[in-house]
Amino acid sequence: MTIRIKKGKKINGIISSVQEMSGVDLSVCFQCKKCTSGCPVSAHSESPPAEIIRRLQLGAGNEILDSDLIWTCASCETCFARCPMRIDTAAVMDALRALAMARGAKVPAGNAPLFNKAFLKTVEIFGRTYDLGMIAAYKIGTSTYLQDTDKFPAMLKKGKIALLPSWDADKKTVKRIFNKTVKTR
Ligand code: SF4
Ligand code: SF4
Repeated sequence: MTIRIKKGKKINGIISSVQEMSGVDLSVCFQCKKCTSGCPVSAHSESPPAEIIRRLQLGAGNEILDSDLIWTCASCETCFARCPMRIDTAAVMDALRALAMARGAKVPAGNAPLFNKAFLKTVEIFGRTYDLGMIAAYKIGTSTYLQDTDKFPAMLKKGKIALLPSWDADKKTVKRIFNKTVKTR
């Protein structure tokens, strides 16, 4: 069966919100799957990038927000670089991630949404990521206080993790970006 996706035609589901938030026109995707074949995490995902886009085109609703790729996507932009239609799938994943959090979608194993939130908060406060603060927030939130702590001394010794946050970041600019991002959501 041939399914035609027409530009401008009203489609049910959350595609309009995703397109508005990401600034991406998903109607031009013709399912060549070049995004999926280059994606480093698609082989481990229930729904690879091209499938996510197809499901949105076909009117997927909030159930798509439970997709694991939303949280395993590394924002590497390989999909964008390979797409012949210049579809920024990473931006689509960002929009889906924001919607998943706003609409209380299923929390995946390992609680990636909490990790994401902790990461963004440290960037917002310190102007760049602060690993120790992020880890502490994640561990408190998941009650995994002692898990992997045996690796901490070696990481500290090798300079892989800092005890204090960096104070030389351009916090003003980062704050402005955060304010702008929140306003456009
Ligand atoms: S590479 Fe672009 S056109 Fe091809 S399936 Fe992926 S998003 Fe669609
Ligand atoms: S940005 Fe995300 S979806 Fe795109 S190739 Fe990278 S990991 Fe895959």
